[in-house]
Amino acid sequence: METSITKARKTERNHQFGIAPSQQSIGGPASLYILQKEVRWRMLRVLHVDRSLVFQKYLKEIILRCGHTVESVATKKEALQRLAQGDVDMLLCGMEFDDGDADSLIMEMSHVSSREVPVLIVTSTDSLTLREHFFSLGVADYILKNEVDEARLRRFFEAQAAEDELSRYMRNLRVAVLDDSKVIIRLLHSIFSMYGFTKVESFQDPQELLARTESYDIYLIDMVLPGTSGDQVVNVLRERFPEAVIICMSQFTGEKSLTSVLLAGADDYIHKPFDGASLISRLKINVRAYKYRKQLERMVLIDPLTELYNRRYLFEQLEQEEAKARRYGRAFSVIMVDIDNFKEINDTKGHLTGDRILQSVGRVLEQSVRAADVVGRYGGEEFLLILPETEEEAARIVAEKIRKNVVSSPWPDGVSGVTVSLGVAGYQKEEGYEDLLRRADARLYQAKREGKNRVV
Ligand code: GH3
Ligand code: MG
Ligand code: MG
Repeated sequence: METSITKARKTERNHQFGIAPSQQSIGGPASLYILQKEVRWRMLRVLHVDRSLVFQKYLKEIILRCGHTVESVATKKEALQRLAQGDVDMLLCGMEFDDGDADSLIMEMSHVSSREVPVLIVTSTDSLTLREHFFSLGVADYILKNEVDEARLRRFFEAQAAEDELSRYMRNLRVAVLDDSKVIIRLLHSIFSMYGFTKVESFQDPQELLARTESYDIYLIDMVLPGTSGDQVVNVLRERFPEAVIICMSQFTGEKSLTSVLLAGADDYIHKPFDGASLISRLKINVRAYKYRKQLERMVLIDPLTELYNRRYLFEQLEQEEAKARRYGRAFSVIMVDIDNFKEINDTKGHLTGDRILQSVGRVLEQSVRAADVVGRYGGEEFLLILPETEEEAARIVAEKIRKNVVSSPWPDGVSGVTVSLGVAGYQKEEGYEDLLRRADARLYQAKREGKNRVV
């Protein structure tokens, strides 16, 4: 079990922390970007379809004031012709036209252009069934004509156009949706795809989700499920994944059921039916907290220079391995690694180069071992590797591989001839990990005395 946790943490570290948030490619050649600190804006090309020329004019003024461009048409035919050109970013759509209705326009627009264009229904007719119907068609939002004002539209456009850091971060998270309704699953998929999420998986059966061993960053859980209740599912997920964002979806406003999911460990809830903008903004609030938790965890466990685990984490792992060894008689070994003549590199090439060499040696160490092995920075230019389920003899082979990999590795800043000395020790029955470390350390210094660039 510990092994898979270690592995998961390691993978998580590489993926969450090690890599920069991927840059999303946005817009066509005519898009205009204004760089503003972390926020990147994009001018949207809006198409408005409505048979009322007065309302067209009214909306046009608002959209222009929001900083986007708009073309207004009155018929479905004109709208489809415009959409076929493939450069519309967003469709604002009334309900009825002289030659068709919003339903048929939404159905047919996917035939004329492969581009996914978010649709906002702007209408004077309202009912819950209508809203559900349009959301099931993949509509992003639904607003009433008498509720249209600049502030509201601006918020909607911002949700589409803002490229802030949090949105970029959020889009790369893994999302699991659990809902027994196919309609809701489709709705969520279209919302997520519209907001650029790339890793969304959905489940209709709670057991299927719970059977997954890998974790997701965000869980969206329906509260009313066949054969179980949402809070039971939340309970299990929370226990397994203490850090995940778990959000419940519910049709009920009953205080009791709400309290029970929050007590079971959900972070938040959202009422059905919901629209894309409110789901995403609710997600954002929770992801912001999630991101800070992750950053904090990183600061507590990761060495900032080498991005390897720090001493604190190494000692936690040593404690766990010792406990496993004592309880189940499992083997484990450690390798202490020290860079040879490192002072000389610092003295001749400078500290900055010294730092880069430390980082490079860290990479070589990571690439030389299995995912389940823990690589950490133990001190200045000393590293410690913890190898679970590994006897001393096997660890010696790993150490020799590391030594060779270091010798044959290229180095930055014109540095050459970097070598390391290594001390290997396997856990011996009943000893504390401090004794194990002491033996590894003594062997490392023996390797130094015997001429460096070797394994003892
Ligand atoms: P040996 O082969 O016996 O290990 O010799 P050495 O020169 O590597 O060992 P020594 O322990 O005498 O020197 C280690 C040096 O590592 C001294 C210190 O300035 C340097 N060092 C420690 N931490 C850092 C760091 O974070 N960055 C840089 N650039 N240098 C560091
Ligand atoms: Mg050294
Ligand atoms: Mg040293």
